[in-house]
Amino acid sequence: MKNLKLAAARADLTRSIIEVDGVRIGADFTVIAGPCSVESESQTIKTAIAVKEAGAHMLRGGAFKPRTSPYAFQGLGLKGLKILDKAKKETGLPIVTEVVDTRDVSWVGEYADVLQIGARNMQNFSLLREVGKSGKPILLKRGMYSTIEEWLNCAEYILAEGNLNVILCERGIRTFETYTRNTLDLSMIPAVRAESHLPILVDPSHGTGILSMVEPMSLAALVAGADGLEIEVHIDPSCALSDKDQQLSPGQFKILMQKLKRAREFVAELAEIGNDTFQKKEGPSKSTVSEKAFADAVD
Ligand code: PEP
Ligand code: MN
Repeated sequence: MKNLKLAAARADLTRSIIEVDGVRIGADFTVIAGPCSVESESQTIKTAIAVKEAGAHMLRGGAFKPRTSPYAFQGLGLKGLKILDKAKKETGLPIVTEVVDTRDVSWVGEYADVLQIGARNMQNFSLLREVGKSGKPILLKRGMYSTIEEWLNCAEYILAEGNLNVILCERGIRTFETYTRNTLDLSMIPAVRAESHLPILVDPSHGTGILSMVEPMSLAALVAGADGLEIEVHIDPSCALSDKDQQLSPGQFKILMQKLKRAREFVAELAEIGNDTFQKKEGPSKSTVSEKAFADAVD
C-alpha cells in the first residue's frame, strides 16, 4: 500500500507484540471485555469482577461516549475514570477507555492503560498526533466509512510520532445492509495481516449490534486469524444506558470464553497442518520496510 512506512508489513513477516501490564497483544489471544459505558461504581466493578472470573485479560468501559444524539448519555467523564481505576485495583485488569478530545489525552492517559480512538475519530488527525505523542498503547478502531488503506494510514499517523504501540480494531463498516448495525468485515483480517505487522482485534458487539451474533462472529474472528476481541458485557444489559441490545450478560460471556478456549485449541491444530495459504500471499504490496528501516525511521 502506497505511503505506508511504519505500519507496513516487515520483510521478514514478524508481527508486533504490544505489552500492557503483562498482557501480550499480538502474541496471546487477548479478550478485552466490559460495559459500553461506565454508569456507576457498582455496575462497573461487578462487571469487572465477572469478566475477570470468566478469563478476560483487560477491562473496557467508556467514560466519554461519542453518541449520535447530544441528548443521549454522554458518559461520566472524570468520575467514570476514577471508577475504572477502582475496578483495576479490585481486579488487576488493565483499563481500555476512549479519549475523544486532544485536550484530554494527557489526563485520561493517567487512568487508561490503553487509549481507545473510536470509529468516529479515526481520521481526527490532531487527536491521532496527540495520542502518538503520549506514548501510550493505542487501540485504533476502524472508521465506519473507511477503507483498510485509510485505516492503516491513520495508524501511520500515530507511529510517525514515535509511538509504536498501536493495536487495530475492526468494528464493522456501513454498507447497504441494514439487518445488522454495521457489516463486520472479517475479510480485513487476512488483508491486514498481509499489509501490516500491527495486531488486529475484532469488536463483534458494535460490528453486529445484535446479541445473538456476538458469539458466532467472535469464533469466526478467532479462526480467521484475529489477535483478540473487544466485547461489551454488562452486569444487567436490559438496564444499560447505552448499547443495551448488544451487551452480553456475565453468564453469556462466560460461555463464550469457554468456547473460545476450545476454539483456540482447534486453531492450533489447524496451524499444525500447515500455514501455506495464510503465509503465501500476493502481498505485502509495495512499501515493505525491514526491521532496521523501521527502527531508523522512528529514531
Ligand atoms: C466503543 O467501543 O465504546 C465505541 C463507541 O465503539 P465505536 O467507536 O467502534 O463505535
Ligand atoms: Mn457501545
